[in-house]
Amino acid sequence: EQHLLTIDNLKVNFKTYGGDVQAVRGVSFHVDKGETVAVVGESGCGKSVTAQAIMGLIPNPPGRIVGGRVVFEGKEITGMSKKELLEIRGSQIGMVFQDPMTALNPTMKVGRQIVEGLVRHHQLSREEAQKRAVELLRMVGIPDPEKRVDQYPHQFSGGMRQRVVIAIALACQPKLVIADEPTTALDVTIQAQILDLLKRLQAEQELSVLIITHDLGVVAEIAHRMVVMYAGVVVETGRVQDVFAHPRHPYTWGLMRSLPRLDGAKQRLVPIEGTPPDLFHPPTGCPFAARCEFAMEICDRQMPAPAAFGGGHQAACWLHDPRAPRIEELVAAGR
Ligand code: SF4
Ligand code: MG
Repeated sequence: EQHLLTIDNLKVNFKTYGGDVQAVRGVSFHVDKGETVAVVGESGCGKSVTAQAIMGLIPNPPGRIVGGRVVFEGKEITGMSKKELLEIRGSQIGMVFQDPMTALNPTMKVGRQIVEGLVRHHQLSREEAQKRAVELLRMVGIPDPEKRVDQYPHQFSGGMRQRVVIAIALACQPKLVIADEPTTALDVTIQAQILDLLKRLQAEQELSVLIITHDLGVVAEIAHRMVVMYAGVVVETGRVQDVFAHPRHPYTWGLMRSLPRLDGAKQRLVPIEGTPPDLFHPPTGCPFAARCEFAMEICDRQMPAPAAFGGGHQAACWLHDPRAPRIEELVAAGR
């Protein structure tokens, strides 16, 4: 059967004076209708670049898709013209970014910004669009929307601005919303409110949501499935409950140990030691080998293939090769 969104062996390079950075190195995953998928990883893992590629927003130059495909509703996005992409963005795919101010025009009333999108995509007349703008502001939980629709972005708080951005993203009833760190710039209490809103809208509108985050707390709160990225590749993927209950990749184990508690209680964070590899010259073997306490000789030489654990849960790690020693043996041997 066909997925709403398929990312198939995507590769993205960025040209720099120091050479080509291989930011995304063969990433594959999918998003089905009505599900929320989280892509999680540290900064620089390629998660935002992957999102930009899906939206046709890789700045070229210096960026370039050098391999693979992005297919949305059976149509290949990679390779579409600027005009086709503009049509799809905003009407079929809504976008929510980290900083609401970059998404909003400070010189234009928020209602007008919603109306422009609706009129541009030829869905409604100006009068209908104005009414719909008020409805949308109400839907995203902005009090007194009849009055707020005629205000400017600076008259809104950070959390309310992000609600406006979500209203704009949903205005044309897209099938997919891509949200890149949508709560990172907000206070903790506001973060929770925005996540609740996204979760409610996702369920009510049967939306598909692709959320990009560095925060496993966000993943646990909102996502059905998750994709863990490291150094430009997917190291683990699966249903959120499966990955949280039985993480299968040493990098995911590290992430879980550094998970801040959702109830906000203080807990010592245990960061993963070391730094990700240089993506000018990415390692030929497992990208996590230099930081992995379980690394074996094969790990440096050859990229592990994904091992499957049922229900779509997969992890790319040599520990799951039948020839590898049991993890208990490695632990017992003092590794
Ligand atoms: Fe560690 Fe090897 Fe697994 Fe990579 S493949 S995570 S280095 S054990
Ligand atoms: Mg980012």
